[in-house]
Amino acid sequence: MSLLTDNTWAGTIFTGEWREGRGGTRSVLSPGSGDTLAEIGFADPQDVAEAAAGASRAQKEWAAALPSERAAVLRRAGILFQQHAEEIIDWVIREAGSIPAKAGIEAATAADECFEAAALPTHPHGQVLPSNVDHWSFSRRRPAGVVAVISPFNFPLVLSIRSVAPALALGNAVLLKPDPRTTVSGGVIIARIFEEAGLPAGVLQLLPGGADVGAALVEAPAVRIVSFTGSTPAGRKVGEAAARHLKRAHLELGGNNALIVLPGADLAKAASAGAFGSWLHQGQICMTTGRHLVHESLHDEYVALLAEKAAHLPVGDPATEQVALGPIIDSGQVERIDGIVQRTVAQGGTLSAGGTHEGLFYRPTVLSGLTTEMEAWSEEIFGPVAPVIPFSTVDEAVEIVGRSPYGLSVSILGDVGMAMTLADRIDSGKVHINEQTVADEANAPFGGFGDSGTGSRFGGAEANIEAFTETQWLTVRSEIADYPF
Ligand code: NAD
Repeated sequence: MSLLTDNTWAGTIFTGEWREGRGGTRSVLSPGSGDTLAEIGFADPQDVAEAAAGASRAQKEWAAALPSERAAVLRRAGILFQQHAEEIIDWVIREAGSIPAKAGIEAATAADECFEAAALPTHPHGQVLPSNVDHWSFSRRRPAGVVAVISPFNFPLVLSIRSVAPALALGNAVLLKPDPRTTVSGGVIIARIFEEAGLPAGVLQLLPGGADVGAALVEAPAVRIVSFTGSTPAGRKVGEAAARHLKRAHLELGGNNALIVLPGADLAKAASAGAFGSWLHQGQICMTTGRHLVHESLHDEYVALLAEKAAHLPVGDPATEQVALGPIIDSGQVERIDGIVQRTVAQGGTLSAGGTHEGLFYRPTVLSGLTTEMEAWSEEIFGPVAPVIPFSTVDEAVEIVGRSPYGLSVSILGDVGMAMTLADRIDSGKVHINEQTVADEANAPFGGFGDSGTGSRFGGAEANIEAFTETQWLTVRSEIADYPF
């Protein structure tokens, strides 16, 4: 079976069948080659309203399906992700500009997410509550109804499927809106997989488009939960709109993640961890290492090692060359990255490596001699830039880490005892000791605090059941109760 090569999906949206959207069509461009990869269909707000109504109808039957039937669809989807891994990886490389290793992580994680989700339909969905009243009292979880999933361009497949799979498994219908730049990897692939896995028509619908389609999804009356992954400014708008309509919104937003190198740490290994954390997928990951805090005894050598790596790492089109870094997603992002780097240098920062680009290919960059007020240190850059500053005491490191409004991921490299003591003092959704900041596993709680979002909404049965179901209090008596009037 071909997943995408028969092109039945080209130029269309998916509402249970592949059909024309009212938003016209758009070209999907490869950031690496500039080639047009495909035409995709766009939805408009009227498509969204119709899809939400249809999803609401389809959801009732899906929620009533046997748990074993829902689990079987999720298992088949997981197997299909494995069977089509090669085709999927090829798309993620060309559409998102990912190196093969990163694209491979996306395909494997997508399968894992489906297998994890396959256990949710038969997981306990409630509790028996002790009561002083003469009745049985239960707390039970029920599907929320229709869930909207809005996802970004950087890890398009994973950041869509990690909401889609558990929401479906728990008996919801899902309306999926990927980023317009990565509609195939973040949407078409998932819709095709679930179509082949036998998910009933209408339960998963794909509504490609821009912010207007996302906003229409948040407004649609049938949508009860919004699972949004993207930037902090867009997340704020989604959160505000959801609150106006009294809907729950799970917001997974930006980060400016610190990596702390403790005194006595193995410098070569620390520099390798720091390089990977900052430059994997060109630094376009919410968990990217955005701030390197290095003990003053190691700082100069650390900067030199990082700069040496930066000078030698190959940058190019991962679809045709063996490279460590691919392209930035588009020219707007390149301008933003370069603007931050150049302004930071103008403010007195030192460019220890990189800071140049050819088209969308930005060289891995190291900035040192910074103050914590400089833009490259205080802002999320979302590019391959490693800003480094020294610290002298652990108290100072804790204070600097805590100054950021974000709280997604922190990495501590070096002595485990010292690192654990530090971890106890750091508010962050994730702390990784002796690993860099980028890590995600299907069964581990994932989420950030503060400007990084509304907390752990992914990973593990508890988090997913909390995220994608509503609680119902149910009481039962053997016969109608007596009342005083
Ligand atoms: P973005 O916020 O511009 O777009 C994300 C998605 O939201 C896209 O599908 C977009 O079309 C949609 N959107 C934009 N405005 C909207 C609105 N007003 N209403 C509804 N939908 C809207 O983000 P981006 O630039 O594509 O992605 C990069 C950002 O995402 C970074 O800040 C990164 O840190 C963050 N991110 C966070 C996580 C996480 O799990 N915390 C993961 C990956 C990326």
